[in-house]
Amino acid sequence: MSEKLAIIGSGPAGLTAAIYAARAFLEPLVFVGPEFGGQIAITTEVENYPGFPNGLQGPELTTAMREQAEKFGARIVEETIDQVDLSKRPFKLTSSNGTYEVDSLIIATGASPRRLGVPGEDQFIGRGVSYCATCDGFFFRNKEIIVVGGGDSAFQEGLFLTKFGSRVRIVHRRDEFRAGATLLRRAKDNPKIEFVTNSVIDRIDGNGKVKEVLLRNVKTGEKTTTPVEGVFVFVGHVPNTQLFKGQLAMDHEGYLTVNQHLHTNVPGVFAAGEAHDNWFKQAITSAGFGCMAAMEAEKFLADSQ
Ligand SMILES: Cc1cc2nc3c(=O)[nH]c(=O)nc-3n(C[C@H](O)[C@H](O)[C@H](O)COP(=O)(O)OP(=O)(O)OC[C@H]3O[C@@H](n4cnc5c(N)ncnc54)[C@H](O)[C@@H]3O)c2cc1C
Repeated sequence: MSEKLAIIGSGPAGLTAAIYAARAFLEPLVFVGPEFGGQIAITTEVENYPGFPNGLQGPELTTAMREQAEKFGARIVEETIDQVDLSKRPFKLTSSNGTYEVDSLIIATGASPRRLGVPGEDQFIGRGVSYCATCDGFFFRNKEIIVVGGGDSAFQEGLFLTKFGSRVRIVHRRDEFRAGATLLRRAKDNPKIEFVTNSVIDRIDGNGKVKEVLLRNVKTGEKTTTPVEGVFVFVGHVPNTQLFKGQLAMDHEGYLTVNQHLHTNVPGVFAAGEAHDNWFKQAITSAGFGCMAAMEAEKFLADSQ
């Protein structure tokens, strides 16, 4: 017998969809994937999620969401979906543990950090190159850190990294930052933070671990070799939608195409969060999309009975 609903992903979108679907007695299967809690679970202070005036840690938020979903009957499955067949219902989802048949599906696979794509980056991941300040900041106590990026994530994580590093240089390819005013002010006020604008990293070098980067000023072309031990990259995201290529409509960057009710081009398959949203990219908006997708899935199942 097929399951009523599966949700792929356990970030704010997937877990919120799970709460709503479970309360509608759909007993959803929630596939956790490589990262329980998604991106918000790798950050520290979340200060803008409504209901928490004193802020809270990312993992606290997703653990509470999980508890809430399980309380109403969501079934959390610690597996990653490797293959899908959406050609007809029931849809087939395959993990290393077997194949699941489902009548409806919510895709909440979110997004992953975009890489710089420069020589040395891949080689030094885990040896000085990182995409997660919470995970790796501790290893850079009293060390020189470079943060790459100019948006909220770069500033938020750069500020967090000042707890560890002797100095945190924020390297950004432009001379203006996209980060919000509050974060910008805090960074400017922080004596450990320096800004290196109009600059990019051309190469990361080291010997077993990162020792230096080659910086290039994009205006003057000047190149400087800069000693550094930690390179933290926050330059945007790519959606985790490879799995659905050729089966679901998506834009040129891979974001799933949905209508205003989050229906994909396949009836019974819905998308929620950063798998389709290339604009808002917040925990609260992703959670909102999760709620909407679950309500639509419930309606779809009721109508198709
Ligand atoms: C460093 C950082 C700090 C941030 N700080 C804030 C903040 O303060 N406030 C705020 O509102 N937002 C913040 N955000 C943004 C917020 O985290 C995201 O908008 C939100 O997490 C997106 O939710 P999502 O559920 O769509 O996707 P994600 O959080 O990306 O979750 C995707 C989920 O899909 C799963 N998955 C992927 N592929 C598969 C597969 N094949 N099978 C099964 N599961 C799979 C993953 O394991 C993961 O659980 C921050 C983001 C980052 C990176």
